Amino acid sequence: MAPVPVHLGRRDDGDDPGGPAMPAPRPLTAPAQFHVLAKPTGPICNLDCEYCFFLSKEALYPGDRFRMAEDVLERYLRQLLESIEAPVATVAWQGGEPTLMGVDFFRHAVGLAESLKRPGQRLEHTLQTNGTLLTDEWCELLAEHRFLVGISIDGPPALHDAYRVDKRGAPTSERVLRGLERLKAHGVDWNVLCTVHAANQDQPLEVYRWFRDELAATHIQLIPVVERDNDTGFQEGDRVTARSVDPEAWGRFLVTVFDEWLRHDVGTVFVTHFDAALASWVGAPASLCIFGETCGDAVALEHNGDVYSCDHFVEPDHLLGNLRDTHLVDLLASPRQRAFGAAKRDTLPRHCRECDVRFACHGECPKNRFTTTPDGEPGLNYLCAGYEAFFRHVDGPMRLMADLLRQGRFADEVRAIFARAGRNEPCPCGSGRKAKACHGG
Ligand code: SF4
Ligand code: SF4
Repeated sequence: MAPVPVHLGRRDDGDDPGGPAMPAPRPLTAPAQFHVLAKPTGPICNLDCEYCFFLSKEALYPGDRFRMAEDVLERYLRQLLESIEAPVATVAWQGGEPTLMGVDFFRHAVGLAESLKRPGQRLEHTLQTNGTLLTDEWCELLAEHRFLVGISIDGPPALHDAYRVDKRGAPTSERVLRGLERLKAHGVDWNVLCTVHAANQDQPLEVYRWFRDELAATHIQLIPVVERDNDTGFQEGDRVTARSVDPEAWGRFLVTVFDEWLRHDVGTVFVTHFDAALASWVGAPASLCIFGETCGDAVALEHNGDVYSCDHFVEPDHLLGNLRDTHLVDLLASPRQRAFGAAKRDTLPRHCRECDVRFACHGECPKNRFTTTPDGEPGLNYLCAGYEAFFRHVDGPMRLMADLLRQGRFADEVRAIFARAGRNEPCPCGSGRKAKACHGG
């Protein structure tokens, strides 16, 4: 492993000094902002979703109990809070299934974080869950501390239950929706995380409208399932499982949902891929790491203090170290992690470097770059065909929205412009085609 910078005067280099966190000396190479996804139960989950990439990671820690110990929790929170420069620090929990730790662990963790935060620092708590274990007691805690809860739902029950099953292979949608009802009853902020895969890829409108109309979701995150077919569970090999989304279908899914959103929901429903695209069209920094030119500013923390380069690379070659031995900010600033992030840009094949939508796509996530370009160069993203179709399709409306924003107006004005256009009239995007064959689908 590459050496990491060493600092004197670090508050958490050894014995716990007690009291609130103090600003930590920052190596010059430390990112200005970073995220940590903490996994208090490691990869352990009460469900057995067929495409889940976490479950195979159990093999990394044979015989482990997979519960975050008190000293790891305390070091993590202290190191995080003393390293974050922004006034708001996000404390993010995910899994596996983090609620398996029990509500008392989280009550304690929130109290500890509040006692450790620096003067003037505000905390934002987030939790990613499958929702099946949420009770009133849970939701009271989540509401009290204004948690933002991401709940994994893949669409209406028949589509959700295709792969999201429990250890006995039984469907889970009923339990997930019961958990969501509890969240709503307690006024907890929530959003949908929907994975798109072989079973729901051809029903984009059914999925999106169900979230919008039946669940009243206002924030939706779409995640394409690209599951490598190998025995290790690592990002190796170039074959994908039959559950993985098809690249063209992924593009059609995004395009179809986009057209629905454009005419009905801009400004009221937020879809992360569309927000990220708009950021690119206005020249703002990427709002999703997958669309950034470089990455490496979001690490994964395992239950035992091990820190990995990214939640998608929890594998031995990407273990940065353990925060019991090395401060979190030093792991983020380490030459090894900086090289990991820069490689996203530096390994782009020529096909991507010359692509007209590179400014928005940047070759997407390196974990998906295992196919070859038309001229045979390795390193092309498996989802390329889908992203090319999507980004080219949204170009006209994105230009219109970006123009509105530059004029100090609101991007949602675009909704009325597209909703007004008759199907046989020219599409407002300026393509010259009829709306019905363009964005009026
Ligand atoms: S490897 Fe992919 S998911 Fe991880 S930080 Fe980079 S772009 Fe984001
Ligand atoms: S759309 Fe395809 S070619 Fe263009 S940057 Fe993305 S992955 Fe590369």
